[in-house]
Amino acid sequence: MPEIITRAQAKQLGLKRYFTNVRCRRKHLSARFVSNATCCGCALSRENSSRLAALPERQKAHWAEVEARQRAAIAERRARQSK
Ligand SMILES: [Zn+2]
Repeated sequence: MPEIITRAQAKQLGLKRYFTNVRCRRKHLSARFVSNATCCGCALSRENSSRLAALPERQKAHWAEVEARQRAAIAERRARQSK
C-alpha cells in the first residue's frame, strides 16, 4: 500500500502521483495524478480501452518504478526533517 500524502505534499516533493486512500467515483483505490487529481485507475482503464495492444506487464513495471521513486522521495524527505 502506498503512503498516504496530500496533493500539496506531493507537489512539494515534486511527485507525479499521490495517494489519499479515498476511492474515486469509479471505486478505484489508486493513486491520483498531482497535475490534475485524476485517479490513475481511471486513467489506465481509459488508456487500455483506447489501445488494442495493452501492455499490462510493462505498465505494472512502470507503476512499480514510479511507486519506488515516490517512496524514496518521501523517505529522503523524512530523513532530512528528522535531523
Ligand atoms: Zn478511478
